[in-house]
Amino acid sequence: MTDVIVVGAGPAGSAAALMAARDGLDVVLLERGPFPGSKNAYGGVVYGRVLDEVLPGWWEEAPVQRWVTRRSTMLLTETQALTVDFRSTDWGQAPYNGCTTFRADFDSWLAGKAVDAGAQLVTSTVATGLIVEAGRVVGVRTDRPDGDLRAPLVIAADGVNSFLAKEAGLLPRTQAKHLTLGVKEVLSLPREVIDERFGVRGDEGVDVELLGCTRGIPGGGFLYTNRDSLSVGVVVSLEHLTAAKVRAEDLVADLKAHPAVAPWVEGAELKEYTAHLIPEGGYDHLAELSTPGMLVTGDAAGLCLAAGIWLEGVNFAIGSGLAAGRHARSVIDSGDAKPYRKALEGSFVLQDHKRLRGAPDLVLSERVQQRYPGLVADLVQGLFTVTNPAAKPGALRLLRRAAKKNGVKLRHLLADGLAGGRVFR
Ligand SMILES: Cc1cc2nc3c(=O)[nH]c(=O)nc-3n(C[C@H](O)[C@H](O)[C@H](O)COP(=O)(O)OP(=O)(O)OC[C@H]3O[C@@H](n4cnc5c(N)ncnc54)[C@H](O)[C@@H]3O)c2cc1C
Repeated sequence: MTDVIVVGAGPAGSAAALMAARDGLDVVLLERGPFPGSKNAYGGVVYGRVLDEVLPGWWEEAPVQRWVTRRSTMLLTETQALTVDFRSTDWGQAPYNGCTTFRADFDSWLAGKAVDAGAQLVTSTVATGLIVEAGRVVGVRTDRPDGDLRAPLVIAADGVNSFLAKEAGLLPRTQAKHLTLGVKEVLSLPREVIDERFGVRGDEGVDVELLGCTRGIPGGGFLYTNRDSLSVGVVVSLEHLTAAKVRAEDLVADLKAHPAVAPWVEGAELKEYTAHLIPEGGYDHLAELSTPGMLVTGDAAGLCLAAGIWLEGVNFAIGSGLAAGRHARSVIDSGDAKPYRKALEGSFVLQDHKRLRGAPDLVLSERVQQRYPGLVADLVQGLFTVTNPAAKPGALRLLRRAAKKNGVKLRHLLADGLAGGRVFR
C-alpha cells in the first residue's frame, strides 16, 4: 500500500520523496514530464548547501556546469552601467556556494537519489485532481488508464500556480498579482571564449544580476555562465508586462543589445528559449501549507525567495521538501500537519521569508526600478568625469543634480534607504 504520493519531481518533490522513503515509507513520486526536469525552466544557479546533511559530499557527483566564484550586480540605464563585482576563491572550493546547472540534469539526479532510497518514480503521468473524502485528501486522480491512486498523505510539489493547492483552496486569491514571468535564452559559446570574456578558468563561473534593463517594467535581468553556453534572461511582473503590451522576448533582446552586455554575447548561437512563472509575493502571499491529508511544498506554496539581490527558489523548494518528507510519518500517524509548519518556521525557509517580507514591495517599487539606477549611474558618472578647467563639483551637489535629473526627492531617497535598512537588516 502506498503511504505517500508526491506530485511533481522537481527539487521540492524529489527532496520530499527522498526523506519519506528513507523513513521506510512507501512513496510514489509522480511526474508529468517524460523525465524529471524535462519540463522545468529556471535561471541557472542552485545553492546546494541545503543538501549538506542529507547528501554529504553532494558536490562530488551533482551535475554541475560551473561553480559560481564571481557575482556581479549591475545597474543599467540606456547608456550607462555600474557594476559591483565580487569574486571569491572560497566559492570555488568545497563546500562551494552556488553552481550553474541545467534542470534536466539536476532534477534527474535528485530524483535518482529518491529512487535509490526506495521511492517509485512514475513519469509521463499527470495528477489531474484530488480525491477528497469527508474533508480529507485521500489520493489523486491521474491521466493513466488505471486512474486513481490512494494514500494517507499527498505532498503537493507541483510548482507555481499549483493545480492541487488551488483545488484544495490553499492558494491565496492574490497570488496571480504576485507572479512574475521569467524568460530565458541559452546561448552557446565555446568554453574558452566564455573563460576569456568573463575572466574565469576551469570550473569557475559567473552570476550577473541586472537592474534597470526592463523598460521600467518591475523586474530585472540575469546572465549566468555554463560550461559552453550562457543563460540570459529577464524576470518581470506579469501584471505590468501585460499592461505595457511588451513582449518578454523583446526585453531579452534589449538586454543582449545593451552596450555593457553585447560584447559578452557576441557571436553566441541561440540553443533554447524557455518561459516560466515565479511566485514572488513573499511571506505575505504564501499558500496555506497544509490541509488534512496534504502538505504543500516549494513553488506550489509560493516559497521561492525573490528579494532583490536574491532569487533562490531551488534551495527553498528542497528545504521545504525535505521538511515535508521528514514529517510525513508523523503527519500520517497523528493527522496533524503542525510539525511540518514548525519545521519550516525553524529553518531558513520561513525565517528568510519572514525577515525579508518587505523586500518584494520595496524592490519592485517604481523608484527602485525606474529612478535609482539612473540616479546612481549619474552620480558615479559625475564623480568620475573630469570637469577641468572647472573644479570638481562635490558629491552632495552631484547627488542633488542626479536626484533632480531622475525625478527623485532627497527625502524619498532617505526614506527608501531607511526602509531598505529595515527590510535587509
Ligand atoms: C526564469 C526563472 C529563473 C529562475 N532562476 C532561479 C535560480 O537561478 N536559482 C534558483 O534557485 N531558483 C530560480 N528560479 C526559481 C526556481 O526555478 C523555482 O523556485 C523551483 O524550480 C521550485 O521548485 P519546485 O520543485 O517547487 O517546482 P518545479 O521546479 O516547478 O517542479 C514542479 C514539478 O512538478 C511537475 N508537475 C507539475 N504539475 C504536475 C501534475 N499535475 N502532475 C505531475 N507532475 C506535475 C512539473 O513537471 C515539475 O517537474 C527561477 C525561476 C524562473 C522561472
